[in-house]
Amino acid sequence: MEKGVRLIGTDAWSLDRPYPLIGAEWRKRRDPSLLWPAHFAGIEREYCHIEKMANLDKLPEVGATRAHSTRASVISPGGRGRYRKKTAREEMVVFHPNAAEGVHRIEGSFTNWYLLEEDGRLTVVDTGVPTSWSSLIEALENLERTLSDIEAVVLTHAHFDHLGFAERARAELGVPVWVHENDVPLTKQPRQYAHERARTYYFATQLRAAPMVAAFVRNRAWWPRPIKEVRRYGGGNLPVPGSPRVVFTPGHTLGHCSLYLPDRDCLIAGDAIVTLDPYTARTGPRIVARAATADSERALASLEALAETGAGTVLVGHGEPWTAGIEQAVEEARRAGVS
Ligand SMILES: [Zn+2]
Ligand SMILES: [Zn+2]
Repeated sequence: MEKGVRLIGTDAWSLDRPYPLIGAEWRKRRDPSLLWPAHFAGIEREYCHIEKMANLDKLPEVGATRAHSTRASVISPGGRGRYRKKTAREEMVVFHPNAAEGVHRIEGSFTNWYLLEEDGRLTVVDTGVPTSWSSLIEALENLERTLSDIEAVVLTHAHFDHLGFAERARAELGVPVWVHENDVPLTKQPRQYAHERARTYYFATQLRAAPMVAAFVRNRAWWPRPIKEVRRYGGGNLPVPGSPRVVFTPGHTLGHCSLYLPDRDCLIAGDAIVTLDPYTARTGPRIVARAATADSERALASLEALAETGAGTVLVGHGEPWTAGIEQAVEEARRAGVS
């Protein structure tokens, strides 16, 4: 738990070793520390503890650690950063400061969104799921900034898992929400997104992705508030902190754009390329499965525009950052193809 683990599960009825074993040791050694139940750890540090879990072998490779030797399973966030426990219903959220220079990553519900900083002013790039608002407040605390430092929200695309608190930010902070003009219809009806293959197909066949889908459901990801008023962008550099350059990368949605930050050698790719596909649980650079992609052929073609930036660090909508350069990521995504 000192490493940030906040959710622990076991396939047994108890996290403790079998009682007859504990009893035998106690009789032999009379050491009171042997009688300490494992869940007492929660007295000092709050955590969530689940017993009698099934399908532990189906845990995703990302975000989970299995510990067979103790017959216990530990779900941990992996990676570095600061860990925060949210309400009991919510996923663990991890704050990764400076994923690239002045670009902070907030990871929750298997989705990333970013705070882009310039001279203390902030642009929010994508807005997670509706419950991500509280993560925003905590991230700002970490950065010693306040809500009033936020000047704009920019969406890479208007999928439900990226426009979580966008409307709230617009209404409560009075900041513009920028989105490519082709994705404006999605901001009004977030659930009407186009995709080539039925989502139910993936949910039925991709068991490994089940934890991610469950996380979306728990965090009401499918029910974000429509955005009442947006600012449309086409291309060029956006007049917001960090001055991101728009790279048009349609396919995943028809208005999908990635944001290039040349001065930081960083590309915020959104879902144009990801390192974790939430619909198949596959990892490594790839385009998102057809369950959530409007036009896969076009998504593959858009990889070229990403490669042309030559960015060293690639920050994605789902999965870990990629630091081996965009060209290699694109090469691997082409090889992975359509799923
Ligand atoms: Zn998406
Ligand atoms: Zn997404």
